[in-house]
Amino acid sequence: MRVTTITEIISKEHVETVRSYIEKYNKIVITTHLSPDGDALGSSLALYHYLLRKGKDVKLIVPNSFPYFLKWMKGVEHILVYEYYPERGGHIIEHAELIFCLDFNVPKRVGDMAPFVMSSAAKKVLIDHHPNPENSCDVVISHPEISSTSELIFRLLYQLGEYERIDKDIAECIYCGMMTDTGGFTYNSNDPEIFEIISFLLRKNIDKDAIYSNVYHNYTEQRFRLLGFTLLKRMKIYNDIHSALIYLSKEDLQKYKSGKGDTEGFVNYPLSIRGVVFSTFIYEDDNYVKLSFRSRGNFACNEFAAEFFQGGGHLNAAGGEFYGTIQDAIALFEVALKKYESKLRNAS
Ligand code: 5GP
Ligand code: MN
Repeated sequence: MRVTTITEIISKEHVETVRSYIEKYNKIVITTHLSPDGDALGSSLALYHYLLRKGKDVKLIVPNSFPYFLKWMKGVEHILVYEYYPERGGHIIEHAELIFCLDFNVPKRVGDMAPFVMSSAAKKVLIDHHPNPENSCDVVISHPEISSTSELIFRLLYQLGEYERIDKDIAECIYCGMMTDTGGFTYNSNDPEIFEIISFLLRKNIDKDAIYSNVYHNYTEQRFRLLGFTLLKRMKIYNDIHSALIYLSKEDLQKYKSGKGDTEGFVNYPLSIRGVVFSTFIYEDDNYVKLSFRSRGNFACNEFAAEFFQGGGHLNAAGGEFYGTIQDAIALFEVALKKYESKLRNAS
């Protein structure tokens, strides 16, 4: 077998501290961000399986539920959804000795769990790729240049000398996160080492084509019809400024009996239109309005999200929120577009 080496980007000091924590502590909690996506779950489940194989008492607690097209992942049935079991979740967090915080940079991203996680006496290790992490953990492994937290989990296990212990279940979870955070390796994925890592994962016998199908060829009929409706009736194109907006009101969502995760990924579709480099999706959630932003090239979605919608994220993928009506959210979005007009006009 040809042996390739992976650059050791995580500092030796961090790797050794994590190694000593894992050796020393038994009660371990893994947590990740609200509305967990493929990378959040992929990285968390990969680490979960690894720690289980090491004989640890490990629990994976997520703030709220996740979309159906991620439910094929091994181990999802053991995930504790905090929103449904807050007392049990709080109790476990309180008694944890070690907490891994994966795929988020600020405590707010774990929602109502945040105060429990922050006040727990456990050692805390943050592993993430969002810019500007808050320094609230004992170890902060933050690499915004890496396209997914799942890739960081691979790198951590690899640097721990644990490649042999990565089995098919772990490899599948890592691959899923790497795939979803790069849109199926269509953005943020020019680093050759991504593909070196994939070759390592393929040697664990994962079926990457099946993983792709599980995630992307798994629409329900409702979701597919909702997408058709959204693109036909709820899309606005701002040609001069290379931007697009799609939006869905509560009534729209109810009409199409939309379930959790049904609108996941919709925001990417307008980027398939020639000339569009900035796409926004606005929809009404239970008690607030949620915004998702995506861009191609160097237009900074996270700046836009932070300035107008109390949000953040990455350069090309960010999110935010708005408290008020969807009409007011759209109006504010258009004010924001005006402010960014010259940047957007020149973007291509
Ligand atoms: P999505 O649009 O898929 O919900 O989120 C895209 C990216 O933006 C993800 O990396 C996510 O972590 C981040 N993000 C989404 N919503 C928020 C938010 O309300 N606040 C912050 N800080 N980041 C967000
Ligand atoms: Mn991620």
